[in-house]
Amino acid sequence: GFPHGRIAPAWVGEKDKDMIQGYVFMRVLNCFLKVFFLAGYYLGMCFAAPEKHLCFFYLASKGWKTFFFFAVLFPAVTSALAYYWSRKGWNNHPLARTLAVHALPQSGWRAVASSINMEFRRIDKFATGAPGARVIVTDTWVIKVTTYCLHVAQQQDIHLTVTDSRQHELTPDSNMPVQFLTIRVASINPYVKAFDIRLNSTEYGELREKLRAPISNAANVVIHQSLSDLFLETFTSLVEINQTYPVPSTQELEPCIGCMQTIANIKLIKNCQEPNEGECQQCYCRPMWCLTCMGKWFASRQDQQHPETWLSSQVPCPTCRAKFCILDVCIIR
Ligand SMILES: [Zn+2]
Ligand SMILES: [Zn+2]
Ligand SMILES: [Zn+2]
Repeated sequence: GFPHGRIAPAWVGEKDKDMIQGYVFMRVLNCFLKVFFLAGYYLGMCFAAPEKHLCFFYLASKGWKTFFFFAVLFPAVTSALAYYWSRKGWNNHPLARTLAVHALPQSGWRAVASSINMEFRRIDKFATGAPGARVIVTDTWVIKVTTYCLHVAQQQDIHLTVTDSRQHELTPDSNMPVQFLTIRVASINPYVKAFDIRLNSTEYGELREKLRAPISNAANVVIHQSLSDLFLETFTSLVEINQTYPVPSTQELEPCIGCMQTIANIKLIKNCQEPNEGECQQCYCRPMWCLTCMGKWFASRQDQQHPETWLSSQVPCPTCRAKFCILDVCIIR
């Protein structure tokens, strides 16, 4: 649990495990380093520059007197603030307030902290960004951690909008320009302030998979997703406007043999041309694949160097090798 009256150094050992405690520890450390920097500097100058007579306060110049005043004032104010925060079991700390907004009526911010910590430890979370602007998406939470701020929103409350994109020139390790997207996270909870997250466009597909809410694209930003994500999306949208296949009521559909998770929902029927024309052939296999696996199969048979040919090409049925094109892929209704 979170500090039941404990002080900062006791959290050090747990900081890898517990996201919230780790965050607070870094904040406290950061704050103290800054606050005592001035005092440390003054003390250092006493020895480094004896001619300024800093050790004898009344002899020092006016500028140094002012400096000394602030060097004492800042730690005093911070200590008072820290004391105020620590009252009532840290309930006054800004972080506790940020989290309390999400607490259920009978529980407090500690329950929220432990939920975040628990989900943060799972490996299936989505995480991106540099240490100074980290974005984490778990099953329940969308979190942004910066040096000075922690933003927390609950997935069920939010709507997301792509507001901006920045193209960066070629990086040495890839031959594609890098695109960064800015996504605004707004919550229907009036106590949660909207915040922006930034990510590489190739991570967009992964983010969307982790989110329950759709992402709207207000600025009509063209998103450069990873090639496979992009293809699967196009493949799906093309297949969805094809003819559908009404499955005979006597036929039982089995799980897709590619992923074993979705029920098979694809049947290949030659619709693109007359039966004896063109390169495509009729496949007589029973439905065995789901749409996603069929899309992945289709992509895997393509020339990786020439993505522009993908949509117009023919590939063999994974089972009987009869050739088919995207027009021949029918969703079962
Ligand atoms: Zn499948
Ligand atoms: Zn077949
Ligand atoms: Zn065809």
